[in-house]
Amino acid sequence: MNSTDLIAVAVLVALFWLYRNLDSIKEFINEQFFDDDPALGVNSSGSRDLAEVLRENDKNYLVLFGSQTGTAEDYAKKFGKELTARFQLRVMVADLENYDFESLNDLPDNMPVTFVISTYGEGDFPDGSVNFEQFLNELDEGDDALNSLRFSIFGLGNTTYEFFDGAARKALDKLQAAGANLIGRLGEGDDGAGTTDEDYMTWKEETIDLLQKELDLQEDENKDYQPSFNFTQLNEITEKTSLGEPSKQYLPSETLQYNAEGKQRGPFDLNQPFIAPIIESHELFESPERNCIHTEFDISGSEITYETGDHLAIWPSNSNETVAQFLKVFQLNPDEIFDLKAKDSTMKLPFLSPTTIGAVVRYYLEITGPISRQSLGLLVNYAPASIKDHIVKLSKDKDLFATELLKPKYNLADALLSLNNGEPWNNVPWLLLIEMLPKLLPRYYSISSSSLSEPNTIHATSIVENTANNITGINTTGVTTNLLRHISLSRSNNKFSEIEQMPVHYDLNGPRNLFTDSHLPIHVRHSTFRLPKNSNVPVIMIGPGTGVAPFRGFIRERYAQVTKQNIDLTTLGKMILFYGSRDNNDYLYKDEWIEYGNILQDKFEIDVALSRVQEKKVYVQHRIMERKSEITDLLNKGAHIYVCGDAGRMAKDVQRSIVTILSETKNITESEAQEIVKAMKVAGKYQEDIW
Ligand code: FAD
Repeated sequence: MNSTDLIAVAVLVALFWLYRNLDSIKEFINEQFFDDDPALGVNSSGSRDLAEVLRENDKNYLVLFGSQTGTAEDYAKKFGKELTARFQLRVMVADLENYDFESLNDLPDNMPVTFVISTYGEGDFPDGSVNFEQFLNELDEGDDALNSLRFSIFGLGNTTYEFFDGAARKALDKLQAAGANLIGRLGEGDDGAGTTDEDYMTWKEETIDLLQKELDLQEDENKDYQPSFNFTQLNEITEKTSLGEPSKQYLPSETLQYNAEGKQRGPFDLNQPFIAPIIESHELFESPERNCIHTEFDISGSEITYETGDHLAIWPSNSNETVAQFLKVFQLNPDEIFDLKAKDSTMKLPFLSPTTIGAVVRYYLEITGPISRQSLGLLVNYAPASIKDHIVKLSKDKDLFATELLKPKYNLADALLSLNNGEPWNNVPWLLLIEMLPKLLPRYYSISSSSLSEPNTIHATSIVENTANNITGINTTGVTTNLLRHISLSRSNNKFSEIEQMPVHYDLNGPRNLFTDSHLPIHVRHSTFRLPKNSNVPVIMIGPGTGVAPFRGFIRERYAQVTKQNIDLTTLGKMILFYGSRDNNDYLYKDEWIEYGNILQDKFEIDVALSRVQEKKVYVQHRIMERKSEITDLLNKGAHIYVCGDAGRMAKDVQRSIVTILSETKNITESEAQEIVKAMKVAGKYQEDIW
């Protein structure tokens, strides 16, 4: 053999070795680069070809989700998990963001696909699903490009919005127009009516029945829970162990990145927050029965920027009381250290790992919200024998479940303890809890500052969710808003008794003291809620309660245009703010409006409806009707209308008033007036920021 032969043999041997060890190499790459990064959510090969990834991972069912805030992802996972548990299907649950769709019509074995898609803004697809929307838009109607595709679809939306479930409806139309075959019907979860969970349950039961027939699925008698992750108990905490850090960058083993100006590098989003110092925080209400907290976050140490009208995401943690109750019911040891590894490369870890049980319960799992019937159903097999029959009944009977568990506003731990006479449920697998419970997600706040007036701080105005509960005696509390109040009180020296009286308390230091001295993780989500580009366009703002938040930002913007940019006051369009509160005690930013008026003069006006200071309740919509002719006049001058706050009644009542005004003053029918409002919405002249 000459040297060329020797090289050829060596290359062949190396190739043979690579081929033999391909799986171990893949696993090694997985462990090193993918498994410990929950933000990644892509398959380890990095391929965007759906058919290829499904084939490589030997999957026979596909669930694709498009999620803006994590809810659609959560339902997609629940659906996939149920198919796996009941029928032993090998399901891949994947984010639309991570794939291309050219092979959608050529999936292995013609496997069906379930889409779970949420709608955002005015009927829009979630940000991460724009590639899917583009794919749908490029399909030629009637050319049967997707005639082999069988699919089911569940959309998440809110009926208080004009374009309810717009994204899923559009996906359905486009898929069917390209010849794809729908299994069952479009399921639609309505957050506006608060029925998403029950809407999902009804759709899911119908769809799974149909799938069972269509795919001839045999229900597995031995329905034992099969975890998607491998669990390893560990003995020591290292620099790589998460104690609840909000993202990988904050682990001691990592190094934060800074730019040349010394600002922490982004991007800051759902995958990585900025841990911002709170530089101001105070109570806005004057009477102690209810609380509303004004908080100012300093963003100067980061690359975060925002625009007036954007949303601030605040990353919360669970309270000591709810964490303790959760640990108690499932008899969990918070100090237990463990590592998780996904069983296959298409699975994504739900949080940073290795970690501890205590960190997961406090920082990563949503444990306070209402218990869901689906979750109770998953726990049936682990119910204490003496109450098992009752648990089965509750999980199947929607009305009984609503009366016994939803009406008293139980969370999971309180419900299970109450059902078992205060005794724990010892047998529930920890991994099942991890997979069953939603992720603790950031809460959004309409930013109440102006990026022109205060580019380095972001203000939030948050009403504290805390209501007495006569049935259980345990106050129903919101996670984030009580945390904001706890921080606010802790910044004063003389608020000990108020802190003591709070229904819930938090670990304000956070993991490895990251949150000490009033810090919280945040990021900014850009919105489309914007003042008109041209500042001479008049604006009508309607924002009762904390709905006033973005309008404080809008007015501060115009105030800064005059005081900082010396814009001539006479060129500004009129700004009229319809604000409402119960009485003078909860009249937000009362003194500030006077100051704005002093500078903006007749270009700013606030019209206040105090609902409870007279016998008959007066709300913003009544004030709007009283000023019909001025509103008409402003609309004739091209005014934009903005509505912010309660999506339930207020936004609808306000829209009805505007429709009535248009119909009366233009002498047209109500449905014609509704069409005008619809057209204004499409043109961005009637904007809503409602929740
Ligand atoms: P969560 O923990 O999310 O609880 C939500 C509600 O459920 C609370 O009322 C809580 O008491 C109740 N609850 C808790 N447990 C149970 C149970 N077991 N059963 C039944 N009910 C239960 N809010 C503002 O105050 N100001 C704003 O400017 C603002 N802007 C927003 C902008 C956008 C785009 C969106 C989407 C929302 C906005 N919100 C705003 C609402 C805000 O995001 C939060 O939803 C709100 O502050 C409550 O958050 P939380 O974590 O305190 O409550």
